[in-house]
Amino acid sequence: MTDPETLPVVIVGAGFSGLGMAIRLKQAGIHDFAILERASRVGGTWRENTYPGCACDVPSLLYSFSFAPNPNWSRIYSPASEIQAYLLRLVRNYDLERHIRFDSDLRGGRWNDSRGCWELATNHGPLNATVVISATGPLIEPSIPTLPGLDSFTGTVFHSSRWNHDHNLKGRQIAVIGTGASAIQFIPAVQRRAKHMTLFQRTAPWVLPKLDRSTGLLQREFLRRVPPLNHLLRGGVSAVAETYGLGLYVDQRLLLPMEALGRRHLRREVPDPELRHKLQPNFRLGCKRTLFSNTYYRALTRANVSVVTETIREVHANAIVTQDGTEHEVDTIVFGTGFKIPSGPAIERLLGRDGQTVLGNRASADIEAHLGTTFAGFPNLFMIVGPNTGLGHNSLLHMIESQIAYVRDAIKTMRALDLGAVEVSREAQRRSNRYIQRHSQNTVWLRGGCESWYLNADGKNTSLWPRSTFSYRWRTRRFDTDNYHLRPVSARVQRG
Ligand SMILES: Cc1cc2nc3c(=O)[nH]c(=O)nc-3n(C[C@H](O)[C@H](O)[C@H](O)COP(=O)(O)OP(=O)(O)OC[C@H]3O[C@@H](n4cnc5c(N)ncnc54)[C@H](O)[C@@H]3O)c2cc1C
Repeated sequence: MTDPETLPVVIVGAGFSGLGMAIRLKQAGIHDFAILERASRVGGTWRENTYPGCACDVPSLLYSFSFAPNPNWSRIYSPASEIQAYLLRLVRNYDLERHIRFDSDLRGGRWNDSRGCWELATNHGPLNATVVISATGPLIEPSIPTLPGLDSFTGTVFHSSRWNHDHNLKGRQIAVIGTGASAIQFIPAVQRRAKHMTLFQRTAPWVLPKLDRSTGLLQREFLRRVPPLNHLLRGGVSAVAETYGLGLYVDQRLLLPMEALGRRHLRREVPDPELRHKLQPNFRLGCKRTLFSNTYYRALTRANVSVVTETIREVHANAIVTQDGTEHEVDTIVFGTGFKIPSGPAIERLLGRDGQTVLGNRASADIEAHLGTTFAGFPNLFMIVGPNTGLGHNSLLHMIESQIAYVRDAIKTMRALDLGAVEVSREAQRRSNRYIQRHSQNTVWLRGGCESWYLNADGKNTSLWPRSTFSYRWRTRRFDTDNYHLRPVSARVQRG
């Protein structure tokens, strides 16, 4: 049997993180990497989510790479198709296709300490890698609640991230389950087509007006002709977002004006007091993701809509039954219920030096990393959008860019110092997490009176960075070798 192929660097996933990582490696003169992508196209989130109304919910100026600005966004908040087109352009402009192995699914792997490499299992067979960069996305595996009787439903069922475009919604009796960020985007389109739409709401989200509009030819032309303007505007918009962040993690009183705005939006859009009561959030703004829409509330006021706040008891062949015994007749169920968190092969299926996953024997959602990127016991493994790198107030791309720079510096350091392996120390990982948990204590996510996917079952923040994006950039500005066990290449050779 021939030995498996060995690659110096393997990136897993070709969404924003994987593609951005590849571009920055190439710009540093590092070309000996491959990207494994389980799908047959790039794009990740923006390939998978094609539901009507899908768009980013932070301004596009921030939702694009600072090193690849796009002056051509058609709206302040661009639709998914434009974001996907942007990613395809990156692949072309930076000649990335030759590095990507499509339809390649990372199924598992283990660290081989004596050989100093990751032995990976893919659907195409084994593959060895000195360094693995996991970029498999935070929101990729749909979460569908277990509803008794769902299997017996005879109609059509799908999740927002697997939209069934072959199923014509016109004239249907549609159940929408969930009121999160995706749901509020597709609900107005579903309501317009449905004979009747029943929205099953567990929690009423905060919904603020969306300052969205077409960018206009003049603005686009200006941005094309004066590129520094892009960076200037980006800085300005980011500063506004960071100011909102202060309310989330420094002093919740700063959220009061936005809560007033949310209440006013609800009052203006929903005249019926009974419906308004159902849609009034009962927790502090920001505790769950704050949503922006000019069409969501209005859609719920239409005659063909019912908003149901009773818990779902079971599903019948052609109906959803709530705890109060009411049967809601439906022929289509659309889940807008978000994603499994955390998930991905690096978390569930890569075994470190001790033969365990990063979760070890801890509860499934109690995950920790050093700066959200590296794990003690897992040499040469880096994770983009790892634990506590999510944000409640700004573009995730800011965090992704910080992580990309950190990982690139780690690889450059390994090469400059002739290191075979780098592994974060347990003490550094502990310190990193003490910092996160200390700063999480007074945040709206812990104190705001809601249950959210930001926290694990024990109420611990395992998802969000509880400070500004600038502070994260500062902490990841260089690869902090002091916090790592460094193993020279020769040590690997001697042991092998
Ligand atoms: C509907 C929606 C809207 C969003 N809007 C915003 C927004 O406005 N602002 C914001 O900051 N964030 C937003 N997000 C979060 C968004 O996920 C991130 O901003 C960003 O797209 C993450 O990029 P990524 O490359 O890390 O992950 P992804 O885009 O999820 O890409 C991961 C890639 O890894 C591949 N992959 C997964 N498992 C494997 C495997 N085992 N083997 C090989 N390949 C694998 C996947 O196929 C995928 O292509 C949104 C998310 C969703 C779902």
